Amino acid sequence: MLRRILLVLLLLAATPVLAEFERIEPPFWWIGFKETKLQLMFYGEGITHLEPSIEHAGVTLSRIERVSSPNYLFLYIDIAAETRPGTFDIRFSGPHGAFAQPYQLRKKNPDPSRTGGFGTADAIYLITPDRFANGDPGNDFAPGLGDAVDRTDPAKRHGGDIQGIRDKLDYIAELGFTAIWLNPLLENRMPTHSYHGYATTDFYRVDPRFGSNEQYRELVETARGKGIGVIMDMIVNHIGSGHWWMQDLPTDDWLNFQESPVMTSHEHITEQDPYASGYDQSRYSDGWFVESMPDLNQRNPLLADYLTQNALWWIEYLGISGIRMDTYPYPDKHYMTEWTRRVMSEYPQFNVVGEEWTSNQPSVAYWQRGQNNHDGYVSYLPSLMDFPLQEAMRAALVSEEGGRMSDGSPAGLLRLYQILGNDFLYADPASLVVFPDNHDMSRIFTQLGEDYGLYRMALAWVLTVRGTPQIYYGTEVLMKNPGTEDHGIIRSDFPGGWPEDPTNSLTGQGLDDQALAAQKYLRTLLHWRKGKTVIHSGKLMHFRPENGTYVLFRYDAQDSVMLILNKNHEATPLKLDRYAERLGGYSAGRNVLTGKLLPLSGAIMLPARSPLLLELIPSGDD
Ligand code: CA
Repeated sequence: MLRRILLVLLLLAATPVLAEFERIEPPFWWIGFKETKLQLMFYGEGITHLEPSIEHAGVTLSRIERVSSPNYLFLYIDIAAETRPGTFDIRFSGPHGAFAQPYQLRKKNPDPSRTGGFGTADAIYLITPDRFANGDPGNDFAPGLGDAVDRTDPAKRHGGDIQGIRDKLDYIAELGFTAIWLNPLLENRMPTHSYHGYATTDFYRVDPRFGSNEQYRELVETARGKGIGVIMDMIVNHIGSGHWWMQDLPTDDWLNFQESPVMTSHEHITEQDPYASGYDQSRYSDGWFVESMPDLNQRNPLLADYLTQNALWWIEYLGISGIRMDTYPYPDKHYMTEWTRRVMSEYPQFNVVGEEWTSNQPSVAYWQRGQNNHDGYVSYLPSLMDFPLQEAMRAALVSEEGGRMSDGSPAGLLRLYQILGNDFLYADPASLVVFPDNHDMSRIFTQLGEDYGLYRMALAWVLTVRGTPQIYYGTEVLMKNPGTEDHGIIRSDFPGGWPEDPTNSLTGQGLDDQALAAQKYLRTLLHWRKGKTVIHSGKLMHFRPENGTYVLFRYDAQDSVMLILNKNHEATPLKLDRYAERLGGYSAGRNVLTGKLLPLSGAIMLPARSPLLLELIPSGDD
């Protein structure tokens, strides 16, 4: 016992004491970034009166910023490339004397593959961590953070965590996924709805109910070893009202509408509209997402640097493959240019996908890297979520063939064909992320009226069309949200994530035949897709839908794949002469799902209400 006390005393003596500081952010940094300038934010009572100085080879204190709150100090230091890793002292002198605050500089990881991005060869599994698997019941309750665990309440925390995800990595890899996108894991010190993670209250801390920063890092490393990259969900648009800044905002312009909050109009077009008023632009971009999520003013240069560095910190600390940026068009758009420029400049192989939730394709196209915009706006964002194609796919599958949508445009498969044809609007359509659903909308099986034939068509489409596919957890076992759009129900617990549950997606226990068939179907498609470079990078050609059928090809010099959707409730003959320009030289197709060979001459019979996915066999090879 005595030895233990002595050890604790020794440790206390060795730990740098934050005599005057409650926080120093970032908590440490790396040598080796192209940008050698670094902002350090110090927080502590009355610290504005301290006078900092640095005497360390390679490190220069270039600027000191004091703000309206007396409890912050922002230091800008410059780190020369040849600076040696290790800890150096920042000296502070003040009314109570002088003291030294150590700060650590690590060496940046030189391996670019560690942060190597994601792309069309990948398939992404989207996970809502609180709802996926409870690997550590010991962290379910975190005193002082608010919001309790109650699995019977869809709006409350359910106990899922990082350990749970780690435990299920083999299952995810075995399904055929090569990437996971995790809904946010950072601290959400919020009284309610903290489980979804979009109300950040500490930019440098994983929520203890999910685990620790170190556990997140270990998860990323373990996943990488299993061929799975991790995509981190980030939010720079807003924070949670429980963020510690809210008790003591650094400046009077840290937030938009700081004095009296105004809610956003959600009018996305104001970002591109050549006639938009400044009033409307501000109401959209500066308005708060919801009352519990204060809107950050990225035009404040101190905040801008803070947020950009935070992204670089997590990329380097975790070794992630990509970022999914939440509410992409809502922050200041010129700041987002700088954010994407900096991230992609420091990590050229990295990937970032932005969320622009609109069915208006020109608005999505506007944000993508390489786009030649009417107003000269430049972006460095490689990828966007393809919401327009998601919406078109759903509408095409559930609406009547030959009918009209409520806006008068064609319904049925023709709608999907036309929206895909609009790909000319994009600088790089192949880099978009395609998905049947996500955590913010009804489960795809529900969107399709629990029609298993349509479900199979939707998945075949998403996994064959251009882009990188993303599938929400539980889609493989037909998770659904019948009769409600409640987000807490959409994000229900994954069967198999809680040991006490009667159903288990990993073992198949308790799953009905259709769910088991769906899981097998998705697994087959994903494993097939993994090795098909023609799906990753081949060209695309499609034919105008006729008679409730839609035919799409992916092809390159070596390979050709034919996907046929048949929405009809009965088996339907498909005459092949229309497709001669893509079928020339091929005599048969191998059914990807059954392995059976189908001769390609005259006409083929399509199974009712099904996709038919064929690998084409050159004449003479069969
Ligand atoms: Ca837990």
